[in-house]
Amino acid sequence: MNPSEHGRLPMNGGPQDQQLIAIEKLQYMLDYSKSSTIATVLAPLLCIPLYLDVTEPLRFGAWFAAMTVAVITRYVLLRSIRTLSNPPQNANVLNIAIGLVTLTWGMGWFVFVQPADMVSYLLYQIISLTVLFVGMVGYCINWKTFFAFVVPLKAPELIFIALNFSQIVWPIAMGSMVAFYLALKMAFLFSSSWEKSFALRMKNDALIDQLTEEKNASLAANVAKSEFIATASHDLRQPMQSINIFIEMIDAAQLNENYSAIFNRMRKSVTVLNRMFNTLLDISKLDSSFVVREREFNLIEIVHSLEDSFSDLCTEKNIKLSFKGSAHQIRGDLHLLEQILRNLLANAIQYTDRGRIEVAFGATSDSLSFSVEDTGCGIPEVDLPLIFNEFYRSDHSRSQCDGLGLGLAIVHRIVKKINGQCKVQSEIGKGSVFTVHTHFPVIPAQSIGQLPSRLEPNTAATASSTPTREQRASASSRHLGILENDEALLQAYRQYFTQAGYCVHLLPYEQEAFHECLALLPKLNFILSDFRLGKKDGLYFIQQLREEFNHDIPACIVTADTSPQHLELFSQHNIDVMYKPIDIQSVEKFISTHI
Ligand code: ADP
Repeated sequence: MNPSEHGRLPMNGGPQDQQLIAIEKLQYMLDYSKSSTIATVLAPLLCIPLYLDVTEPLRFGAWFAAMTVAVITRYVLLRSIRTLSNPPQNANVLNIAIGLVTLTWGMGWFVFVQPADMVSYLLYQIISLTVLFVGMVGYCINWKTFFAFVVPLKAPELIFIALNFSQIVWPIAMGSMVAFYLALKMAFLFSSSWEKSFALRMKNDALIDQLTEEKNASLAANVAKSEFIATASHDLRQPMQSINIFIEMIDAAQLNENYSAIFNRMRKSVTVLNRMFNTLLDISKLDSSFVVREREFNLIEIVHSLEDSFSDLCTEKNIKLSFKGSAHQIRGDLHLLEQILRNLLANAIQYTDRGRIEVAFGATSDSLSFSVEDTGCGIPEVDLPLIFNEFYRSDHSRSQCDGLGLGLAIVHRIVKKINGQCKVQSEIGKGSVFTVHTHFPVIPAQSIGQLPSRLEPNTAATASSTPTREQRASASSRHLGILENDEALLQAYRQYFTQAGYCVHLLPYEQEAFHECLALLPKLNFILSDFRLGKKDGLYFIQQLREEFNHDIPACIVTADTSPQHLELFSQHNIDVMYKPIDIQSVEKFISTHI
């Protein structure tokens, strides 16, 4: 195991660092000794062809046996070393193990070398120097080990020279001393560079840890921020939903001129509030681990939905809204594409006072791309790099229009998630073009211009806002079960849907009362439920009702809870979901298409 894995510390020379260095050194030397075991076996074997014939057999045999014992002992001792437990004691074991072998090797001077015989001297010297250089690389990082290796190797040679002073071959002896000096110098250099690189590695590791910690902290802060947005908007959405419904229920025609003007202003403010809530909701949903759900659809679906939502607004502002391109069949995430387009289009309308807005669809290398072009106020060049940041609003828009500065941040996040690209070109006073390239594949089809418009403007709204006589007449076949714990909202639902011709059943959400009420209920045609309802949630009650009627009754949860796990859960149980605040007409339209 790498000792540095035990905890990375910035090197400051403290006792913990010393301990860490000691462990790292021991590990390095141990690995090196183990890998050089083969050399300790080969060196004595090399002596057999070199010296067997010229050495007295008894002396040779005794030395060879001693060497064999030393090599085996070294091997056993090395195996016994556990780097992480008590490094100083283990370092001593290592020193003994390697010192034993070099001492036996040093004794070879007295066995094999004839002082006056240049050949035997030279051969033993060459092997000894090789052993010295090899050991130096492995053991110089710890001076005790280095000396435990060098002293037993070199001391016998020096004693040998001293004893045979008059007969020694001096050029060889001198050469050996120079090589020894060089080995010491190299050992010193190697040792200091090893320590430097180790300290650097520790510093790097500590920096990586610090960076990871900071990254985790910023991720946690981001999650906390999203949770805050989700929770805050959840609690505010509930009353907003009631306000929406009550506003829808006021008959503006019955108000006098003064109140009518106030009412219209109030309605506009509520619309802005709704938009802000939904933007907050969108961004908090994108913060959670949202997934891209691909399916096949036709672009015309998006076009119709955008027309439904924005054409009235454009007519009001006298702006010409047009769609260009072919009705491509796409494989991609319809919901995310629509979200991008809705944000771009809402901005285009908001920042354009006259002229036109054009949404154009095309295909780049068989992938869908589209643009939203307006003839609005344009964006100052200094703002262009910043407009995709969260909560960024340029100065001119801050004073003129309502907004949170999140629309383009949402676009940016989605585009990133689908691996697309978003570009903007803009000229002050002339307008802006936002272009998005996706990787969603397209299959060309007929032109959008050729397709009949699905709805005449306002048809849907008129149909759903005032219930017709026919709708009322068929009320008996439209039993609507409602579960909601906000009393004001519940009454608003009851009033609105009764007026719209439904037979409304307000269901209790205390378990006992609910089960008593089950027996009295007619077969429901639709269930509208809040999610958080006392001890049990909307999902539980919907399941109970479906079981009771042995039928998969269409159901929709209208909730302010935006967590992706719940969304997944609803879709698993075939339950639709709508997020508060939502205007009551949309809920009614949804219910009537599902019954
Ligand atoms: P918001 O519209 O709520 O201010 P956005 O994130 O949607 O926030 O846009 C950020 C800023 O980019 C806006 O404040 C506005 O200044 C600028 N902007 C975006 N779209 C347009 C556009 N089509 N025309 C002019 N300015 C725009």
